[in-house]
Amino acid sequence: MEKVVIIGSGPAGWTAALYTARAQLAPLVLTGKQPGGLLTTTSIVENFPGFPEGVDGYELMTRMQQQAERFGAKTSFGVVESVDFSQRPFTLVVDGGKVVAETVIIATGASHKHLGVPGEHDLETKGVTYCATCDGALPVFRNQPLVVVGGGDSACEEALYLTRFGSVIHLIHRRDSLRASKIMSDRALSNPKIKPVWDSVVTEVLDVKLDKVTGVKLKNFKTGAESVLNCAGVFIAIGHAPNTAIFRGQIEMDGNGFIIPKHGTMTNVQGVFVAGDCADHVYRQAITAAGAGCAAGIDAERFLAAENH
Ligand code: FAD
Ligand code: NAP
Repeated sequence: MEKVVIIGSGPAGWTAALYTARAQLAPLVLTGKQPGGLLTTTSIVENFPGFPEGVDGYELMTRMQQQAERFGAKTSFGVVESVDFSQRPFTLVVDGGKVVAETVIIATGASHKHLGVPGEHDLETKGVTYCATCDGALPVFRNQPLVVVGGGDSACEEALYLTRFGSVIHLIHRRDSLRASKIMSDRALSNPKIKPVWDSVVTEVLDVKLDKVTGVKLKNFKTGAESVLNCAGVFIAIGHAPNTAIFRGQIEMDGNGFIIPKHGTMTNVQGVFVAGDCADHVYRQAITAAGAGCAAGIDAERFLAAENH
């Protein structure tokens, strides 16, 4: 029986682990398929306090893990397949096995969204990707025209990163202004290698018959005009959806699947807490996720203390 099980190993999960480990609750962290969470897919994080020169996303997450483990957090590379929160202790099915917990902190974050257009799925790993940091340096993209889809911070960051490798980066956005923060928008739009394509959506990724990306079909929303843009890679950065499907029917969530926290980090189930991007559709930053993880750790500790553990 675990006192605290933390589902997820992003900034929210590791911070919750640090606080509950220092409270001597020996939390078990289930990392999921992406140990370290979303920040491991980016290069330099410039806005996490304490790192004036910026910090590599992977390094930051490794340090968070080490810090939590130093105080007794236990790490397991498990994926939670289902949960039973109908009675305490709670039961979690993890890679086919059972884990039993007195309290659970949900910190499952969010996963990238798909465009849902023809060719996208068939050409995934053959030129369609969701992570420039992971795939941008591949030889197939070197000195080639590349496409980034999206208008947020992620799309700007992906486009900027890709300027190191591609000949030109077409930034396809469905409106005529970026959603990204001012600093990221200015950086992207002032880079001579980045060419914005406004008011446009990708309607198909080409060419499934050739089994590789050769271009995208575009439609301009305002004029209705359709065109083909040649490229060797399509980097999709259109946001993220919360990883909460396994909690459906047990934990209250909004229409988009974000868990609804109450009184801090509590959920509708006593003893189950939530932190980070899976419950935050507004801020979605590493520091806010870490802050929520801290709060969830403290809430879980106080909940157990109140039961005289
Ligand atoms: P995540 O980091 O998403 O972690 C979720 C964790 O849950 C993962 O470990 C995953 O494996 C695990 N998980 C999911 N489902 C299960 C399951 N069923 N069982 C077990 N584990 C599971 N923010 C900034 O502040 N600064 C930046 O510079 C910045 N750059 C970014 C760059 C990119 C490309 C992206 C995509 C995001 C960036 N962000 C940045 C946002 C930041 O990454 C997120 O806000 C933050 O990672 C959210 O933390 P989290 O702990 O809530 O979730
Ligand atoms: P986001 O802010 O939700 O932006 C998603 C973008 O994709 C929007 O421009 C949206 O268009 C577009 N889009 C959504 N669905 C689409 C579709 N089906 N077809 C075409 N376009 C679509 O997501 P994000 O950029 O991943 O950022 C998520 C969070 O992480 C944000 O809070 C961000 O600040 C943070 N982050 C921070 C940094 C940094 O600080 N360096 C880097 C990356 C991410 P509309 O604008 O029309 O809605």
